[in-house]
Amino acid sequence: MNANATETRKFEAEVAQVLHLVTHSLYSHKEIFLRELISNASDACDKLRFQAIAEPALTGEDTDLHIDVLWDPEARTISVRDNGIGMTREDVIANIGTIASSGTRKFLENLSGDQKADSRLIGQFGVGFYAAFVVADKVTVHTRHAGADASQGVKWESDGKGEYLLENETIEARGTTVTLHLKDDEDEFLKAWKLRSLVHQYSDHVAFPIRLPKDEDGKPGTDLETINDASALWARPKSEISDEDYVGFYKSMGHDFNDPLAWTHNRVEGKQSFTTLLYLPAQPPFDLMMGGRDERKGLKLYIKRVFVMDAAEQLLPAYLRFVRGVVDSDDLPLNVSRELLQQNRQVDRIRGACVKRVLDLLDKLARDEGDKYATFWKAFGNTLKEGVVEDPDNRERVAGLLRFASTSGEAAAQTVSLDDYIGRMQAGQDAIWVISAETHAAAAGSPQLESLKAKGIEVLLLSDRIDEWMLGTLNEYKGKRLRNASKGELPLDAADKEKQETASKQAEPLLKRIKDLLGERVSDVRVSSRLVDSPSCLALADHDMAPHLARLLREAGQAIPDTTPVLEVNPGHPLLKRLEATTDDAAAGDLSQLLLEQAEVAAGAPLADPAAFLKRVNRLIAS
Ligand code: ADP
Ligand code: MG
Repeated sequence: MNANATETRKFEAEVAQVLHLVTHSLYSHKEIFLRELISNASDACDKLRFQAIAEPALTGEDTDLHIDVLWDPEARTISVRDNGIGMTREDVIANIGTIASSGTRKFLENLSGDQKADSRLIGQFGVGFYAAFVVADKVTVHTRHAGADASQGVKWESDGKGEYLLENETIEARGTTVTLHLKDDEDEFLKAWKLRSLVHQYSDHVAFPIRLPKDEDGKPGTDLETINDASALWARPKSEISDEDYVGFYKSMGHDFNDPLAWTHNRVEGKQSFTTLLYLPAQPPFDLMMGGRDERKGLKLYIKRVFVMDAAEQLLPAYLRFVRGVVDSDDLPLNVSRELLQQNRQVDRIRGACVKRVLDLLDKLARDEGDKYATFWKAFGNTLKEGVVEDPDNRERVAGLLRFASTSGEAAAQTVSLDDYIGRMQAGQDAIWVISAETHAAAAGSPQLESLKAKGIEVLLLSDRIDEWMLGTLNEYKGKRLRNASKGELPLDAADKEKQETASKQAEPLLKRIKDLLGERVSDVRVSSRLVDSPSCLALADHDMAPHLARLLREAGQAIPDTTPVLEVNPGHPLLKRLEATTDDAAAGDLSQLLLEQAEVAAGAPLADPAAFLKRVNRLIAS
């Protein structure tokens, strides 16, 4: 292909879908197109400033980086122009013809037809450049890379319907101009006051000057004036920054049009000096759990006010990947590379400080602003749980931030902390009791809880997928063991023990009979100390995998070895009485199998033979 040719290209399938979605579901937030374009222009200036340190020729004479917003009421266009890094032809194809995130397809699959929900999701998705198509029926980009000749400018144009045009052209100055050809009913954006107020609302804290024409018609060529603050917000003293400033700065970073939930702004001075301004979003981005782990954006590393790179992976552990914001170091060398960041003592210290700041902020929210903490927990609780496993140094702090549903709590609400639990423990109780199942209802209804409940002992109810994995690491909190109510043997007090022994002795023939009838399907049958109302339950060894988890992993194609469970029975239950009384071996066989099968079902294990199970149930009902 001749690289200079005019060509028409198709978008990647996902881009076309996103475009369609964006244009149809962002109506309540149309104006964010401006913020997204300014945010991109600002990124482009950031990139140029950084690259020009090593290669001053890139900026040459033109060292004042800025962003201009221009409009033309007659042509009905709005342009956002920057003298940043610009794009080559390849850049344009890669950056604007593609959506890089691997989560995009999944995101699209997960969308409902509900437009309101969709637009909320899109807000988190952060459509960036494509937001232009919400108000424009045609978008033209003229761009020239900072290192390229005037003759190597590129024009990109599209109506957002699946194809775009690409052409080489001569562009005198480096940088990018994005021009929106407004749709018929979008004239409100052609007014000076409107554009000014949008810049103030969304982009005031962009660190480069944003310039608008002084007079009403915003055509290029007229006198420009800077209308934003254009300083690095985080570098100012805290006392001079209002809450609105903090919120405004968060929004000017792009991608989330909701207010942040909370933030923490700190300056460390000393042998090593740096500033951190870290935000907690109020809602998760769509790809947090999907593509989110590999490709993390949202935490920008600056060195002496110069943006260096997105460095979320280097500056925060994965379990805090929801945090957004800025780190500005005074000491790191400006020629720092990603590799260097990975193994640098200074970076380790900054990272440690970031983790501490975020955990401090979460502690404070949990203590003083319960509603906000509940919002945080709902959005990011499952992500934070990873920290229990991945951050041994902070395990206890992270564990203290966890919230659980509980037998003493309201329905499925996750509101109980481990400290709450410990504060309510009974005299003589030495363990924190938990149970995990596939759903909250299954956990709350576990037969294994019955005797703990009868004794008034609280049990934490876990039902998220990540919980089993987390429990594997979380053995202890503040000196109290965490014990799984479905594993091992319940500790009994002396009176219980005696009762249990008597019951076991009495039931010996019954236990032997069940064991013989079930053969290899169980490793043992014993009298349960867990049960009150139910006839049977499974008892797992401490290291056994929970049956519901084993099932999920098997369904996901993993080879999970079979375990032979211990069956616990409640000899006082009518079913057991009936089994004891019957002389009919076939009926006794049915009953024994049902005892095992219902214990398995309650634990989330699949029925080996559902048809046979149903036949047995029916025979029993009919008899
Ligand atoms: P994001 O900003 O999150 O990367 P966008 O959709 O906003 O996503 O932009 C996509 C990409 O297009 C950017 O990453 C950048 O590479 C490129 N781009 C967009 N606008 C500009 C611009 N004004 N100058 C240079 N590159 C740009
Ligand atoms: Mg962007």
